[in-house]
Amino acid sequence: MQTSATPTHCPYCALQCGMNLSPAAGGRVEVTERADFPVNRGALCGKGRTAPEVLAAGVRLTSPLVRSGDGDGTLVPASWEEALDRIARGLAGTRARHGADAVGVFGGGGLTNEKAYALGKFARVVLGTSQIDYNGRFCMSSAAAAGTRAFGLDRGLPFPLEDIPKTGCVILVGSNPAETMPPSLRYFTELKENGGTLIVVDPRRTRTAEQADLHLAPRPGTDLALALGLLHLVVAEGRTDEAYIRERTTGWEEARAAAMAHWPEYVERITGVPVPQLREAVRLFCEPEAAMVLTARGPEQQSKGTDTVGAWIDLCLATGRAGRPLSGYGCLTGQGNGQGGREHGQKADQLPGYRKLTDPAARRHVAEVWGVDPDSLPGPGRSAYELLDALGRDVRALLLMGSNPVVSAPRAAHVEERIRSLDFLAVCDVVLSETAALADVVLPVTQWAEETGTTTSLEGRVLLRRRAVTPPPGVRSDLEVLHELAARLGVEKGFPTDAEEVFEELRRASAGGPADYSGITYRRLAEEQGVFWPCPATATTAEAATTAGAAMAAGAAVADTTAAVHPGTPRLFLDRFATEDGRARFAAVSHRPVAEEPDEEYPVLLTTGRVVSQYQSGAQTRRVAELNAAAPGPFVELHPRLAARLGAAEGDPVAVVSRRGRAVAPARITDSIRPDTVFMPFHWPGEGRANTLTNPALDPTSRMPEFKACAVRLEAVRG
Ligand code: SF4
Repeated sequence: MQTSATPTHCPYCALQCGMNLSPAAGGRVEVTERADFPVNRGALCGKGRTAPEVLAAGVRLTSPLVRSGDGDGTLVPASWEEALDRIARGLAGTRARHGADAVGVFGGGGLTNEKAYALGKFARVVLGTSQIDYNGRFCMSSAAAAGTRAFGLDRGLPFPLEDIPKTGCVILVGSNPAETMPPSLRYFTELKENGGTLIVVDPRRTRTAEQADLHLAPRPGTDLALALGLLHLVVAEGRTDEAYIRERTTGWEEARAAAMAHWPEYVERITGVPVPQLREAVRLFCEPEAAMVLTARGPEQQSKGTDTVGAWIDLCLATGRAGRPLSGYGCLTGQGNGQGGREHGQKADQLPGYRKLTDPAARRHVAEVWGVDPDSLPGPGRSAYELLDALGRDVRALLLMGSNPVVSAPRAAHVEERIRSLDFLAVCDVVLSETAALADVVLPVTQWAEETGTTTSLEGRVLLRRRAVTPPPGVRSDLEVLHELAARLGVEKGFPTDAEEVFEELRRASAGGPADYSGITYRRLAEEQGVFWPCPATATTAEAATTAGAAMAAGAAVADTTAAVHPGTPRLFLDRFATEDGRARFAAVSHRPVAEEPDEEYPVLLTTGRVVSQYQSGAQTRRVAELNAAAPGPFVELHPRLAARLGAAEGDPVAVVSRRGRAVAPARITDSIRPDTVFMPFHWPGEGRANTLTNPALDPTSRMPEFKACAVRLEAVRG
């Protein structure tokens, strides 16, 4: 433990709030305010404030575990040597019997950039498998696909959060920052204080929607039609920016024609949003000089998520609100390193630097950095759900790091069954998650405050998380695990255990790619409040590079050597978009229904989401007493009319049944949700597991499952 406060960042969501960690009485670690970090200015939500509780030995793994007997025994403590040997044998044996693609790797959006990079390299260089993907696929992949299609580049926000209060209007689509990232709410409050307006699109009147000037509550899965209806009105009311469309975009005629087929009355029928509200939204969005659209999981986690986000981007492009100061489209990425995690190679189709695995030049560049033959690199593999669905069949062994798909994957009972059918499963985690509990070998690894590494926030701001405490005896870092496994599988070099050393290689691998980190060094990150990518190297960068890891880990001051280095890029696209011709591309899309529309048997739509006191699959936050007291279990949120039809009172157990299974949770009755929709949070396993119900219908481009809308029926649970 450092003796003084160590400045670092929260382990949870993509806001990556700054915090100080300090030693406290009884060996505890205390979170104290870090007002200098501009994103949260000292504010933290309950999850960040209580994050050190998961550092405590009582709640986490401190010894490797191996399954006794022939795979049907219990997990028992083992030495690191035995556990690593067993994993190496499990992976190598499967590869020898069934081929390299029979070995899968599953990563996580919470892994640092260094870990995500090393994991992708491990899969392709050591295992030679194409079968790698990660849970970030379930988070922001539709926005990433739509952003890449429209702008030639995907970075969650192409501008810093500090721009939000200065714009004229923000449309927040399917996002509830009051619950998911509370410190960010101040940006929207300040927007309103400055005279701007906030429009929230959400089927529920959430705590965020309550603060909106206008709340549009469409049926789940109809955000695409809603965006097209607004675009129709923009055209009909003569509010397009013709000069901008001419000079900075392509594809307008097709997009215009698609929008004109979506009459407001037709859109009202699809979405349930009254025409006067559509008109008011257009007025609020178009009247100010600048405006933004921000999306999150609501429109993105759909089987048409890419087109849905594309339609919202089209609205921005038609009104000249992208690539201009204080205007633009952005995605509020969810996971802690959701942004960096999708840039450096743990995604099925990617190489580091956001390069495409199918691009011969990208393969040559990365292969040279890795010291391998480009032809030895496998091609793209299955997406996350498809990979999980193939377990026990085409993919027989799995190495899983930083993810808990038994709770977080769609059609979770099926995914659990697939995981159980594996020949071999190894899991690296901090706690014995529901997925780790099914493993043949579990490795206890270090976590955020116990290790140094970088993350990239939803702003595209690369940040240094510093080691602040000594890990408990018995745990090792994920980088050490990959180093040891690579050696056991015959690759002695290329997997350093020091995070800065990995980052130095990542810089070279990303150089010249869309997400260029080559001008970013640990030294810079220690001195600055993060650096926005792209940040290419300059001649001075090399001098500024440092290996002063220990000094930085301690938060010690280092000399200013940043002069003449690239400043980073807080704002993208102001001169040109990242497409070949520099113009943004309209998507030209049309409404289509959700994959599973309600019918007589399943007459209600289920939508899922998060609550403020739990995080994702809850593996960490369910182990924090204060958070558990605030959010002890799942619930079914439903409208009083629906509850009356069911004969359910507040707190009564309600069964929610879909074509994939049945979940039971207490009723929470509120008129803040549409009468044709129910909501369940997805943080819990067991009987109330929301993802037992969700539909794995995939978006054809992003391969995002349709978490946000599936048909269900409700049943009263008697006795
Ligand atoms: Fe952590 Fe996100 Fe909460 Fe900030 S908003 S303290 S980053 S969980």
